[in-house]
Amino acid sequence: MRRVIDIKTEDITPSITGILAHQGMPPHVQADEPTLKPAREAIALWEHLSQPVGIFAEIAIHEFAQVYIGESRNEPETPLPNIYQRANALALFAVTVGHDVEQEIRRLFETNEFPLGAMLDAAASVSAEKAVDVVQDRFRKHLSVVGRWDRSKGVMPFSPGYCGWHVSGQRALFDTLHPEEIGIELSDSYLMQPLKSISGVLVAGAKDIFQFDDDFPFCSECATRSCRERIMSIIENQPKADTR
Ligand code: SF4
Repeated sequence: MRRVIDIKTEDITPSITGILAHQGMPPHVQADEPTLKPAREAIALWEHLSQPVGIFAEIAIHEFAQVYIGESRNEPETPLPNIYQRANALALFAVTVGHDVEQEIRRLFETNEFPLGAMLDAAASVSAEKAVDVVQDRFRKHLSVVGRWDRSKGVMPFSPGYCGWHVSGQRALFDTLHPEEIGIELSDSYLMQPLKSISGVLVAGAKDIFQFDDDFPFCSECATRSCRERIMSIIENQPKADTR
């Protein structure tokens, strides 16, 4: 099952709080007007320029195993294999907020409009992450329609370049999913164009398969530890299983 998702702008509009948090502002800090003004302007620009779209395609576990191996440059031990091998369903995905936002970000930096450029850059990043949520939700609904979803399950996205899955894995992912259909290209250095795009795999399965410790060697260099929040949102208070 392969589906292009026409994402509504209003479903992924970034909030001022989200934009400022993305730029590292702690939630308890009250932003002043010189900070809020470019954030508001960035949201207005983003609403005018964004062209969000996504795609997902189901993939069998044995087929994804080849995509995951990619160019054989992954870390020796990563969380993903222990999770996808126990999944009920997998789907490759890609989302983008389009070329126009990116061109405007570049123009703003080239014309030394740094505050607005930085805010628009953050707005585009936040909205791309929200676009993943939309595609994830559509995948979940698809599984529900075909009778392969219930409340005991969860979905989590993983992307090349994170958590030990080498960024070169983008090549095998693109060769299989073909996000070119929605306007995303991959460069020789594995960068997506537009830059404000996200690709990866959606893993659906029993909630306890998503539990893992954040003590892989590469975790020491992880600034966000975002897996903790993502696991909590899926697991809630279920008992922890050994996944390593
Ligand atoms: S701590 Fe960071 S690198 Fe380690 S698994 Fe979690 S998100 Fe990935």
